[in-house]
Amino acid sequence: MPRTILVTGGAGFIGSEVCRYLIRETDARVINVDKLTYAANVRSLDPIANNPRYRLVEADIADRESMAALIAEEQVDAVMNLAAESHVDRSITGAAPFIETNIVGTFSLLEAARAYWNELEGERKQAFRFLHISTDEVYGSLGADGYFTEETPYQPSSPYSASKASSDHLVLAWHHTYGFPALISNCSNNYGPYHFPEKLIPLIILNALEGKKLPIYGKGENVRDWLYVEDHVRALWTILNGGRLGEKYNVGGNNEWKNIDVVKRICAILDDVRGEESPAGGHASLIEFVTDRPGHDARYAIDATKLKDELGWEPQETFETGLEKTVRWYLDNEDWWRPLREGRYDGSRLGLLDRK
Ligand code: NAD
Repeated sequence: MPRTILVTGGAGFIGSEVCRYLIRETDARVINVDKLTYAANVRSLDPIANNPRYRLVEADIADRESMAALIAEEQVDAVMNLAAESHVDRSITGAAPFIETNIVGTFSLLEAARAYWNELEGERKQAFRFLHISTDEVYGSLGADGYFTEETPYQPSSPYSASKASSDHLVLAWHHTYGFPALISNCSNNYGPYHFPEKLIPLIILNALEGKKLPIYGKGENVRDWLYVEDHVRALWTILNGGRLGEKYNVGGNNEWKNIDVVKRICAILDDVRGEESPAGGHASLIEFVTDRPGHDARYAIDATKLKDELGWEPQETFETGLEKTVRWYLDNEDWWRPLREGRYDGSRLGLLDRK
């Protein structure tokens, strides 16, 4: 098992769960490299901030020299690359940072890691791993039937997914061309605690708590396949340790939900938990349909059979149990989300967004 792991983007939603998980569940040292963009929240790392096995380094993955120096200094055994610009709507209004971080950044990190790996010898060289964390959005949109498998051709629709698709191609090319020990995971929509309030599920929970409108694109018919973030992180750890080099692994929980049904489910949980504090007519009375996003993919659904059969991974949460845990976490952790709602998050068009 890797002893020192470089986690990039570890101050983000999924990356912070990776850092907390690795400190909690393994003996690994965790070096968290994060540029601390608007999407970062170091408070998500409070539970591990003082652990001697954890270190946060503020840096850009596109800065190849810094990455090379850090990887060498820390004698890294594995890289988990989660750093990315991740918000589809932001990629539509301004794609430049998506190209810089998701494509150029991944290239720079690959080169820094490859230079280090080239110099390794023996067991350490054999054991070195580079896991690139990607999304099911690279596959494009599905009709009513079928699932994305690892063989589904890439057909990205948004600047975000196109930039992630590009980075996936780079990673596999580095394996095929240089024998670099890389592999990829492609996961469906994540949800859970510490999710930035502009994303669909926290946005709906928090707007509902504050009696604000619950904006839904189009008629809310778009289907997403939801996975609890901790289940994703367990999958990443499983793939890092057991996955075959040069392979892709799809990660998903078989939890297909229409956006409108996700919102109604959250409203029902809140009606239950808040009882008489609920608005007249229940929280669902706050639902409001807004003009659809351009190029909005109709449906994503993941076939995770390869990961399950080859590596024995299974999600532990159902959507119902995970969603209930998530709602309760937001109810109990106002001191985490309140500053985001009141400061950096302004409720502008970027506040009307759904999902990742
Ligand atoms: P996020 O936006 O919450 O976090 C991204 C983190 O990366 C932030 O802390 C940010 O500061 C950091 N970052 C951005 N640019 C950087 C740079 N140039 N150098 C170093 N750090 C930088 O994202 P997330 O939702 O946690 O997603 C993490 C990864 O997982 C992404 O690669 C994303 O594509 C992928 N993914 C996300 C989902 C999802 O549902 N959220 C699903 C599948 C895959």
